Amino acid sequence: MSTDTRTTCPYCGVGCGVLARPGVPVAGDPEHPANFGRLCSKGSALAETLSLDGRLLYPEINGIRSSWNDALTAVADGFARIIAEHGPNSVALYVSGQLLTEDYYAANKLAKGFLGTGNIDSNSRLCMASAVAGHRRAFGEDVVPGIYEDLEMADLIVLVGSNTAWCHPVLYQRILAARELRPQMRIVVIDPRRTSTCEGDVLHLPLAPGTDVALFNGLLAYLSEHGALDDDYIANATTGLADALATARTQAPAAETCGLSPEALETFFSWFAGTERVVTVFSQGVNQSSAGTDKVNAILNVHLATGRIGRPGMGPFSVTGQPNAMGGREVGALSNMLAAHLDWDRPGDAELLCGYWNAPNLATAPGLKAVDLFQAIDAGKIKAVWIMATNPAVSLPEADAVRRALQNCSLVVVSDCMREVDTADYAHIRLPALGWGEKDGTVTNSERVISRQRSFLPVPGEARADWWIIAEVAKRLGYADAFSWNGPADIFREHANLSGLANGGTRVFDISGLAALTDAGYAAMPPTRWPCPSVAPATERLFGAGGFPAPGGRARLVATPYRAAARATDAAFPLVLMTGRVRDQWHTMTRTGKAARLLAHIPEPFLAVHPADAAGIPDGALATVEAGTGRAVLRLRHDPGLRRGSVFAPMHWTARFAPAGRINPTVNAEVDPISGQPELKHTPVRLSPYAAVWHGFLIARRNLGTGLAAWNAVLPASENVWRHELAGMETAETAFARIREIFGDTPWMLLSDPSQHRYRAALIIEGRLQACLFIGPDHVLPARDWLVSRFATDKLAPAERRALLAARPADGPMPEAPVCVCHAVGAIRISQAIAAGHISVEAVGKATRAGTNCGSCKPEIRALLQAATQQLESA
Ligand code: SF4
Repeated sequence: MSTDTRTTCPYCGVGCGVLARPGVPVAGDPEHPANFGRLCSKGSALAETLSLDGRLLYPEINGIRSSWNDALTAVADGFARIIAEHGPNSVALYVSGQLLTEDYYAANKLAKGFLGTGNIDSNSRLCMASAVAGHRRAFGEDVVPGIYEDLEMADLIVLVGSNTAWCHPVLYQRILAARELRPQMRIVVIDPRRTSTCEGDVLHLPLAPGTDVALFNGLLAYLSEHGALDDDYIANATTGLADALATARTQAPAAETCGLSPEALETFFSWFAGTERVVTVFSQGVNQSSAGTDKVNAILNVHLATGRIGRPGMGPFSVTGQPNAMGGREVGALSNMLAAHLDWDRPGDAELLCGYWNAPNLATAPGLKAVDLFQAIDAGKIKAVWIMATNPAVSLPEADAVRRALQNCSLVVVSDCMREVDTADYAHIRLPALGWGEKDGTVTNSERVISRQRSFLPVPGEARADWWIIAEVAKRLGYADAFSWNGPADIFREHANLSGLANGGTRVFDISGLAALTDAGYAAMPPTRWPCPSVAPATERLFGAGGFPAPGGRARLVATPYRAAARATDAAFPLVLMTGRVRDQWHTMTRTGKAARLLAHIPEPFLAVHPADAAGIPDGALATVEAGTGRAVLRLRHDPGLRRGSVFAPMHWTARFAPAGRINPTVNAEVDPISGQPELKHTPVRLSPYAAVWHGFLIARRNLGTGLAAWNAVLPASENVWRHELAGMETAETAFARIREIFGDTPWMLLSDPSQHRYRAALIIEGRLQACLFIGPDHVLPARDWLVSRFATDKLAPAERRALLAARPADGPMPEAPVCVCHAVGAIRISQAIAAGHISVEAVGKATRAGTNCGSCKPEIRALLQAATQQLESA
């Protein structure tokens, strides 16, 4: 009997420990310090995403299967030729926070040390580059000072630009559990949207998008005026207060700039001033901005000025989006960083690295950051790009320009575990990489804990580890000596050893205490927080007593003058588009898009808009959202929780799932001038109705792709059943006949009302439902869930057949879309439980099981409870 393998979730930066074995659902690891056994909806569904559907299993050259040797040689020859002809900066690597640290290290070593280019950047540029830049400006090094436990010990938690409930759910659950025990804990959410994180007893500050700097400058000035600064800490451990404060004092009133009520702001400021134990969590809402670095520094300023940093229950806390964004930062896989927190600008660091690697060709300057890098490909300056484990054709801003760049690039190499990804469509050479559960190495989470990702599945096809692929290309370029690792443990030791080299306390990132791990020690390595130097005791929190890795050991408060977003709204584009994530999806859905239950909560790409900004377009209708650069067609959701003048769309949907639902062609490519992070949270757009002639859906036993109509969204609805959401421009009658023809000359059950343009059909073969097609003149169509459930029936009863075209059971309740995807409990059942007197989240859980597994839906249950209470009060 196989036993559980201790590994780490591959999704967000919380970095939860997972117990996994083939063929059974995963469980949270009760011993992992990030989650102590908890998992969110995505983590809980990991076992449902492990099929080999859509996997890339063999190397390919120009779409034809090749041997590994031929593919690797083609990559090496291609890069060597282009470098010889055009120089080292004519090539680039674009890598990913999905890579393990060992893979990341190998890629960075190859690019910066041996190809001789700084042009290696990571998709972490889109996620937390501003946090990196802010940390480096303030602390002298990219270091997160706190640990998760601080969130449980704080008396005030400020969540800025972070829908923690959906994007870092286990961390959010830890916060709520701590508040149960210590009800004095206050929570403030600073976000233009009223998200799930705002549910319950929370002070929500719906600031105008992009105005965070003004808010934290205002707070700094307030703290000074109210005698809340820590003069000793400022005097002993910092510089720059006078400038930062002068800038803060001379700005316009924060309430005015941020569009907040002065009373709400006063409440927040006074709470902050009067609470010693404060943690400020910030995430993509802060980082993804043309002023992202300043936003980060404005937050760091208030913690440095109050000395609330690096002590229990206090500190600024950057939480990363990706599972190994932190590992990438450690190995220097951003174009402007060197390995092991060595610094281009620190004299001697480049030489140190050059000597350690015995690198013949160390890059002499930082390379291009992600947005600039793809623009350089588009301009023909970069002629070869190797993309690893990421999907820039979907995830980068102005994504259609990225597609054009890849289309015209001389050599595009893609290493990925998936074949069916949008970016791989542009690859000349495809290299099959191992996926989660197959690969082996380490990742670092947001609290600096290095955890092992271990394999527990067999290697599929001819897939190989990323580090192996990189090393084999390096060998073919003539660098065998430097890339002759036998496994990830060798790479980890090399990385750990480098971190301690000539360190002597000058760099906080030091894991040299792990450099002597044996292979067995590496295999068994428990979660380990850095720094763990070889010569000094390991430290949990950092900077509580100063000691920054900056000149004089002092942190710098940075003056951060407020400036508006790069592009302002105007009469043509009056709304601000913010993009982000939804609860149950991850990045570009290559994994989570395989699990039907993860698509049950939010099945289609959507645009959330305040009802008053909806331009008369009804809730549930399709709408076009467009900017100067592109457009998307999305399902409109009226959401009074949106700040007036702003709209929100998820970034997940790709051409595989909904070609017109891709939001990033619309998103502008403005970047922060320091971090290079794109402004994904502020694109001026306009909204208009999508004038389809007909709307419909097809549920079938096969995936018929996304070419059935002018607008399509396809998703798995249950096992081997696919749901296609459609809208088109020909007549409804023509579409109805055309789509049925796909299934051949087979008789369907039909119901039609041509005068109303309504058509319904079901295809039943030998008692089994094969497909059902519903078409009407507008978006108001029957619910899909009951129809989907009929596909599980081997022999439809006569009454069920008759009910099919009514799309509802002849008797009994209609199933509903789940709020709780773990136990398939919808809003109606939850509301019934509340009406029956179950008036707490726990009581609803006992009555319905909703929220009792991963707990990701608890904020929505809380919202339903709140709505019911308000209804009672107003009755
Ligand atoms: Fe994975 Fe969820 Fe934990 Fe993030 S919070 S690491 S997605 S289980």
